[in-house]
Amino acid sequence: MSRYDLSRSQLAELLAGEPSYRVDQLWDGLYRQLAEPGELTELPGGLRRRLGGEPFLAPAFAVVDEVQSDGGATVKWVQAATDGTRVETVLMRYRDRLTACVSSQAGCAMGCGFCATGQMGFSRQLTAGEIVEQVVLASRSSLGRGWGRLGNIVFMGMGEPLANYRHVREAIGRCNDALGIGARSMTLSTVGIVPGIRRLAGDPIQVNLAVSLHAANDSLRNELVPINRRYPLAVLLDACREYVERTRRRLSFEWALIAGVNDGSADAAELAELARPLGAHVNLIPLNPTPGYLVAGSDRRAVLRFRDTLREGGINVTIRNTRGRDIAGACGQLAAGRARQEPASLLAGSARRGPPASLQAGSAGRPGTAPSMAAAERLA
Ligand code: SAH
Ligand code: SF4
Repeated sequence: MSRYDLSRSQLAELLAGEPSYRVDQLWDGLYRQLAEPGELTELPGGLRRRLGGEPFLAPAFAVVDEVQSDGGATVKWVQAATDGTRVETVLMRYRDRLTACVSSQAGCAMGCGFCATGQMGFSRQLTAGEIVEQVVLASRSSLGRGWGRLGNIVFMGMGEPLANYRHVREAIGRCNDALGIGARSMTLSTVGIVPGIRRLAGDPIQVNLAVSLHAANDSLRNELVPINRRYPLAVLLDACREYVERTRRRLSFEWALIAGVNDGSADAAELAELARPLGAHVNLIPLNPTPGYLVAGSDRRAVLRFRDTLREGGINVTIRNTRGRDIAGACGQLAAGRARQEPASLLAGSARRGPPASLQAGSAGRPGTAPSMAAAERLA
């Protein structure tokens, strides 16, 4: 529960007895100034102090760790709620834009073996306000650094956004209405929750959709992405088709390239067959090794070969450099590490030096990069 879960009328209840314009001032303070209620100098001192101590207005999360990389252009936070829940949020500064990568759940129940968040398991859903609070943290930090206000959001942090549809949808609405971030500047990444994709297809909100495919046949996808057993490719692609037809929006496929697993020319050809009829854009990223999945990402040559095969098949394809290579490992790793009581500085330090040899399944092993950051970079 976060103060960003409160509606205007709930804020009005907290301000009972005050003139009604105080509600607007508080709303403006939270969403435009991105300020703490106790910092709002336009409020009289007594009220400011009262609101500063009001439990319903306290932050839901406390930052327990902050790490930076890319010369400071990427900032990653681990935040803890009072119930011990930990989530990760990332701010990325690019030449032309500022993007927050937010978590939609604490942990994830989807069990993708290569993903650090999947390896942690599921803790709980985040509320809409807890998601908005992450955006506010990133935007406030960005303003504080003199970078300006955040303009883009990617739902590529911890968790599966379409398994928390209602709260994610509410958060999108609030970020849109109250923080002024256009839905077209938001990208939701899903592992392929078919009912969620269909629901999004019928929703007037104009967010971008990315589907984490990683395999273009059921036997491999069942292994990499266990939810494929429930929503196999034929069903998933049918939902993707509906999404594209109803929304007329571009769809992206995410493909984490895993050495010797899904990076061959036959894989690329199979992917091209699926992507072409949907006009889908493909985003490639070499897998970042995580502690529970000791397989390397594809090396540069394999990545380029894969890209070229897709291009020859008429597919729009992007490879991007990743962000946060030297911090914190893959998404969920920092929070997972802290849950195991390891100081995050150790994780960050080891990432900087490169992973232990035991984690490098091949010469292509490299320090983990938050998948969320990597994926975000491809799409933001
Ligand atoms: N649950 C959603 C969104 C969060 S994961 C989803 O799966 O799409 C965001 C992206 O990071 C997904 O494309 C996911 O497959 C990818 N990812 C997870 N672990 C990764 C890793 N170790 N290396 C590279 N990408 C990874
Ligand atoms: Fe969950 Fe996405 Fe990680 Fe799979 S890749 S476990 S769906 S966060």
